[in-house]
Amino acid sequence: MTPLISLAQSLIKIPSISGTEGKVMKFASSWLKKSGLKVFEQNHNGLVNVVCVAGTGNPTTVLTTHLDTVEPEKKLWRKTNPYSAKIIGSRLYGLGASDAKGIAAAMLWAALSFNKSVEAKKGRVIVALVSDEERNGKGSKVVVPFIKQHPSLHIIPKSTSVIVGEPTNFTEISLGSRGNVFIKVLIYGKGAHSSRPKEGRNAAQKTASIIAALPDFVERLNQHHPDSVLKRTDITATSLSSNLGVVKGLITPTKLNTLPGEANFTLDCRLSQPYFQNNFRLFWKKFNEFMAGQREAGFKLAWSKIHPEVPGHAIQRASPLIHRLAEVIAQETGVKPSYRIAMGANDAPFWAGAGFEVVNEYGPGNSNIIHQPDEWISLSQLKKGAEVYLSFSKAWTNKS
Ligand SMILES: [Zn+2]
Repeated sequence: MTPLISLAQSLIKIPSISGTEGKVMKFASSWLKKSGLKVFEQNHNGLVNVVCVAGTGNPTTVLTTHLDTVEPEKKLWRKTNPYSAKIIGSRLYGLGASDAKGIAAAMLWAALSFNKSVEAKKGRVIVALVSDEERNGKGSKVVVPFIKQHPSLHIIPKSTSVIVGEPTNFTEISLGSRGNVFIKVLIYGKGAHSSRPKEGRNAAQKTASIIAALPDFVERLNQHHPDSVLKRTDITATSLSSNLGVVKGLITPTKLNTLPGEANFTLDCRLSQPYFQNNFRLFWKKFNEFMAGQREAGFKLAWSKIHPEVPGHAIQRASPLIHRLAEVIAQETGVKPSYRIAMGANDAPFWAGAGFEVVNEYGPGNSNIIHQPDEWISLSQLKKGAEVYLSFSKAWTNKS
């Protein structure tokens, strides 16, 4: 068994559902210390991140991924169980095999190999293993300032490359992910008996007219501020209800013959870069204008976000960082990488927000089988993935 594979197995065997990563972080930290790397443990209100440093110079490559997993549905695991880390044929099975403990093992192996290379005198690899990525990204939120401001690390964001490790089927590079915000819209009209509609203001019909106006609004957003990486902004009405009517001063659920006086609906907004950058400023300006355009006598409209906005991230395909990573992937695998956009949120915006150039996601592992029973990673991809991380770190060191 190679050290890389057995390291991945050890990580899988230690349960670490989001919020309970203490044990696996402790294991990673002592493994790194035994290997002779410089290790920092960050403790932030019970949340633990582990950071290690290989090499002594600058420029720096930061390889970062998460050690937490989502809760497995154990009954549905057929081939193996989530924590047995069994090898069957050419695959390593287990919870987090692809997302992202295999990747973490590959990054640690790359740091260790870098430390023994000639490049270690000219550059550095920093591996940041974070907690709580799957729930809210809190681990990265606190590890980024920790690394950036650490007095002994002397980080220069401009000459530092960051790769966020997530499974991208090995030869795909994710260039970005859209920002999102969920908005609740409330419509207050006037309830009445529906046989006398003129006496009321129908909140359900008003809701329908606002939703009908959305596609034009979204097309205007896309035309006015195109985004070559993330392509599109989408806004979709999800839940809606109009179940309240006010008849003779009493709020009652609407019946077939009641004209609803109140209604509400939710908008799921997935935003391209022009709309999420600068704290979503342009988006809110446009959205408030759109809603102002929906004003009508007899109706009161109100809207607010349901929880804080989640920023996205985008990096240009032509950037030196993506260019160099693509070269390394082609050399190591013989395959020209393809490009994609990540569907969900990830940790890249925390790095980008602090001034780092960051690969949105790149890593070995199969993105279609994550968070599912019998998760696995191909052993050959795991080994090759570690080689790509190492070769990239050397190439980044040698660039100047
Ligand atoms: Zn992940």
